[in-house]
Amino acid sequence: MKKLALHWQILLGIAAGIVFGLFAAKMGWVQFVTDWVKPFGTIFINLLKLIAVPLIVTSLIKGVADLKDIRKLGKMGGRTFSIYILTTAFAVSLGLLIVNIVRPGYFIKEENRTLMIEKFADKTASKIEAAETAKNQGPLQPLVDIVPDNLFKAATENTNMLQVIFFVVFFGIGLILIPEAQSRPVIDFFNGANEVIMKLIDIIMLSAPIGVFALLSSLIVELPTADLLFALLGYAACVLLGLALLLFAFYPLLVKLFAKKSYSFFMKGIAPAQLLAFSTSSSAATLPVSMECAQEHLGVDEEVASFVLPIGATVNMDGTALYQGVAAVFIAQAFGMHLDLAAQLGIILTATLASIGSAAVPGAGMVMLVIVLAKAGIPEAGLALIFAVDRPLDMCRTVANVTSDLTISMIIAKGLGKLHEPKPKNL
Ligand code: ASP
Repeated sequence: MKKLALHWQILLGIAAGIVFGLFAAKMGWVQFVTDWVKPFGTIFINLLKLIAVPLIVTSLIKGVADLKDIRKLGKMGGRTFSIYILTTAFAVSLGLLIVNIVRPGYFIKEENRTLMIEKFADKTASKIEAAETAKNQGPLQPLVDIVPDNLFKAATENTNMLQVIFFVVFFGIGLILIPEAQSRPVIDFFNGANEVIMKLIDIIMLSAPIGVFALLSSLIVELPTADLLFALLGYAACVLLGLALLLFAFYPLLVKLFAKKSYSFFMKGIAPAQLLAFSTSSSAATLPVSMECAQEHLGVDEEVASFVLPIGATVNMDGTALYQGVAAVFIAQAFGMHLDLAAQLGIILTATLASIGSAAVPGAGMVMLVIVLAKAGIPEAGLALIFAVDRPLDMCRTVANVTSDLTISMIIAKGLGKLHEPKPKNL
């Protein structure tokens, strides 16, 4: 019998997880699910995260060394960052347009507002506290943060991915500059190690249906009660509409225009990565699968995929930026504040930067939203207003974040003549 394609397996895992989660919640099995089901989801995410740093190291060293020319690296880096910033700024602007037309904040009743602020006071305080360090930093701190003072320290924290990338690119430049006789054994070693890591990803993905089942069912039983969800419907609809426009119109259009590939080719190729992004809410955990999808389904050369995707997972978050824009204006509206054009333009800038600064893990976008609110003079306590629906929206915005990275990897590859006919192998 033909084996079911991976994206169908993951989809089945998601559906079964939701159904089981709803059933378990109804039967009052919350503790059972937390004790006996959730750990399998955690193990699955841990395995994906475990593989992320070795994957970046082995594939990026190989990618940079294969470029054989530092100027090519500069060109690719310049293009990658410019397109990342442009798409992110577009995403926030789209979010602002929608939220200004729909105005969901004006529908929040006074009593619901007070209720939510009381109910989520503790959680809000912890997010505000988490944002405190980022808030007090100087303007060049993000640049300083890219350069690690200790490689091993950087590699132990999944949130320091950019530091690892910095070292690896630096190391790769060194490899280009030394004579071939000396660089060859080093490159061969990392080539071999990269093959091993890719095989490990295949093995991990065998457990994907069980992993996503566990993640989804434990999420459902832990979801807050539905009483406040209704009040947030307008806000959630604005975020979802914006994300849908990005996912189903903006990215496919970019792929069509700049990579000359069809909508169905693109969507089919990236489905496993999208479904995993949805289930894990983490671009970092999805990275190993995005790398495989890019190379094996979309035909992006490894030199490009290994550079563009890890950087994208950390800095390029269009979905997060759109959500931050919508959330900021929604909270302002709910507090009866009027934001003029200058304030909204300010939000485009801060949300773009805040999304770059958000870690690729669940809930990170909300921490950086605190900074967007503070800069726009919107009460930070307003964060409480969006807590009840944050996790489902996080799942959806992570899908947009990952899709954006994959879109741009195709565009960059096409521009550099590195987009080939795909050779499906593993997924
Ligand atoms: N969870 C998102 C990601 O990993 C970040 C966020 O918006 O919270 O891409």
